[in-house]
Amino acid sequence: MKDLLLHKDNRFCADCNAPDPKWASANIGVFVCLKCCGVHRSLGTHISKINSVTLDEWSEEEIDAMIEVGGNASANSIYEAYLPEGYTKPASDASHEQRAKFIRSKYEHQEFLKPSLRIVSGKSSSHKNTFKASFSKRLMDSFRKSTSSSKNMEGMVEFIGMLKVKVIKGTDLAIRDMMTSDPYVILKLGQQTVQTTIIKSNLNPVWNEELMLSVPEEFGQLSLQVYDHDMFSADDIMGEADIDLQPLITSAMAFGDAGMFDDMQIGKWLKSHDNALIDDSTVNIIDGKVKQEMSLKLQNVECGELDLELEWMPLGH
Ligand SMILES: [Zn+2]
Repeated sequence: MKDLLLHKDNRFCADCNAPDPKWASANIGVFVCLKCCGVHRSLGTHISKINSVTLDEWSEEEIDAMIEVGGNASANSIYEAYLPEGYTKPASDASHEQRAKFIRSKYEHQEFLKPSLRIVSGKSSSHKNTFKASFSKRLMDSFRKSTSSSKNMEGMVEFIGMLKVKVIKGTDLAIRDMMTSDPYVILKLGQQTVQTTIIKSNLNPVWNEELMLSVPEEFGQLSLQVYDHDMFSADDIMGEADIDLQPLITSAMAFGDAGMFDDMQIGKWLKSHDNALIDDSTVNIIDGKVKQEMSLKLQNVECGELDLELEWMPLGH
């Protein structure tokens, strides 16, 4: 901890740049000044757990989390990654209102985080105290995973969990034969490929079929393609979509054992101009399971939508 404090970046408040911060948020992993510390406290300990750098007793876990994050520069590179151009952070003499607005945007609403890493917490739950120390640490881990291209060992793939994908139904799919199509869905993750059954002559097929995939440590996007089965020639493509698994997996890992929580929303994949979502897709704990429903507009095709439900299954459960 002392080494961390001596580091140049940690000699100034992570939020307002005031010199010589004497407080630290143990779960976020930043050093802050007395004024910013007041705002952090008002957010509640489920978002920011403030300790005095010198006075309070720190748990081993909190110190580890702090060291793992690496302090202000490292935390800000994530929490302020998408600070809008021209946005000015509050200065050390900022009013309480300016300071509070910035700190809430930064940590509570996570407005400046890379969108796919954002964890939008649902209503506070009676179990919220179990969700504390290593929030930032888990965020950092998944951030490193999403940015690092290094491999652990040549040819070795480590799996972090299973993904159950329920392919529910297709709507208004494209015509590839004379009047109709014989659609089926292929899912690809890393080296794995799984597919649904073929449904004959149907542009609004209902599959309700569950497919399982292992999720490698450095998972990328889940890609989905719809094909028309053709007896006599190569199958024709009827559209595709890429699914960002980061919101599901990051929020599931941040909450740990979902069985300990009441039903609530824990994350969200936001609709944007460069993804296939028809609406924002929320990640929810439902009966102790982490699930995410989504409706996708198939890409590179004239028409067609697909409904899916993802479920995250951590290893050892
Ligand atoms: Zn400050």
